[in-house]
Amino acid sequence: MAKKKEKKTTIEWDYAPAPESTSHIEVKDRYDLYIGGKFVKPSGGKYFATYNPATEDKLAEVAYANEKDIDKAVKAARKAYNEVWSKTTPAERAKYIYRIARMMQERARELAVIETLDAGKVIRESRDVDVPLACNHFFYYAGWADKLEYAFPNREVEALGVAGQIIPWNFPLLMAAWKIAPALAAGNTVVLKPAETTPLTALKLAEIIHEAGLPAGVVNIVTGYGDTGAAIVNHDDVDKIAFTGSTGVGKIIQKAIAGTGKKATLELGGKSANIILDDAPIDQAVEGIINGIFFNQGHVCCAGSRLFVQESVADIVIKKLKRRMDTLIVGNPLDKNTDVGAINSKEQLDTIAKYIKIGKDEGATIHQSNCKLPKNGFYCAPTIFTDVAQSSTIVQEEIFGPVLTVQTFRTVDEVIQKANNTPYGLAAGVWTDKGSRIFNLTTKLNAGVVWANTYNKFDPTSPFGGYKESGFGREGGLHGLSAYVKLK
Ligand code: ADP
Repeated sequence: MAKKKEKKTTIEWDYAPAPESTSHIEVKDRYDLYIGGKFVKPSGGKYFATYNPATEDKLAEVAYANEKDIDKAVKAARKAYNEVWSKTTPAERAKYIYRIARMMQERARELAVIETLDAGKVIRESRDVDVPLACNHFFYYAGWADKLEYAFPNREVEALGVAGQIIPWNFPLLMAAWKIAPALAAGNTVVLKPAETTPLTALKLAEIIHEAGLPAGVVNIVTGYGDTGAAIVNHDDVDKIAFTGSTGVGKIIQKAIAGTGKKATLELGGKSANIILDDAPIDQAVEGIINGIFFNQGHVCCAGSRLFVQESVADIVIKKLKRRMDTLIVGNPLDKNTDVGAINSKEQLDTIAKYIKIGKDEGATIHQSNCKLPKNGFYCAPTIFTDVAQSSTIVQEEIFGPVLTVQTFRTVDEVIQKANNTPYGLAAGVWTDKGSRIFNLTTKLNAGVVWANTYNKFDPTSPFGGYKESGFGREGGLHGLSAYVKLK
């Protein structure tokens, strides 16, 4: 019998454009460094541009901090720690953190639009996920600031001192919140560096922090490239490094601080398994797979980038998945209908393209969404690879883009082995109707976070972090607080 040809879904109609307005936002032409409660010029006089990856338009110029600037920022943070913040009562600290959260909420629309402009992520996600979650982190940790004795019963709690914090470009404001809120609640002062391609919301946060009246030097925000980050890591007077970024840079940081007594938490790369068992609710699972890999263009360290489907349901899952992928709206991130926005930078787009080529060269079958990509800006069509092997490069290495690999399995033991056969261990997803199967898998998967019948769910109360090359330490919840305290 002739094989039925698979029908390709094409959207025959378009949504009317629904662009979010940019009239209420203010982006300056040039931003300085926020050190010691003031916006100051970089000592080397250098600035670099930040672009909108959706259009390639220049958004602003941002100061490029060198070692001297970092020294100034660390000194300001030390002075603020010694003279003010360590003497501020916990209840007062809580009030400041709470005030920052409220002011972020008041400016939520502006923060969401700027995040979308600078990062390329869709406005629906900046508006409904990034910004509210960032506010919630400040609210949550404000609550702990004056309850540390309950957080760590029967222990004496002391802050670490000055925390150096380096964050990536995929969730710029949210990562700043993950880092700053628990550090302040535990009584530390901060020097934070946002990523070079997405500095604007951290600088907006600096303005909010300033308006909130936080004592000078408690939070310092410095912009620059990798060498700026390295200057923070290598500064003698930093007590703790909190880093989120690539595994490569994580390893450099770990080597740099070895033997220095600096504490560290590293949240690095991932290649997380999303596992669909034969009794899973198929339609919900397909939505979960889509969300797992295409949320934020796949620029998610815990993205469900390796899909494992039990053989008996593989055909139907893959068919529905392709059909659903083809309906995703790719394009202008400021449009409220858009599902998949712009890739964060030309460099990242090149990396993704390199992996797509490797996938094809290694013999995998590619299925790409037949969407129309905008002419300007950096875009990648959502992509699925089938016919991959455990040893395929695209199965082994983190791509950090909208690219999913699909493997099948027969038994639960087999999928546990395959899922764990990776250098990473950040997250995993399990889809099944049975609690017992969830329990079995979640206890055997080597991942810091395991979601059951959902994916990419975050909450300030719940710890997040990895095993193996995905790093160590946890952020969020009580665990996140304990990374910023000395217990006696
Ligand atoms: P990505 O691959 O996501 O760009 P990186 O690890 O390169 O991740 O970047 C994450 C953050 O680390 C950015 O803020 C970047 O500027 C910073 N960074 C890059 N290299 C170094 C380094 N050697 N030391 C400290 N920070 C660095």
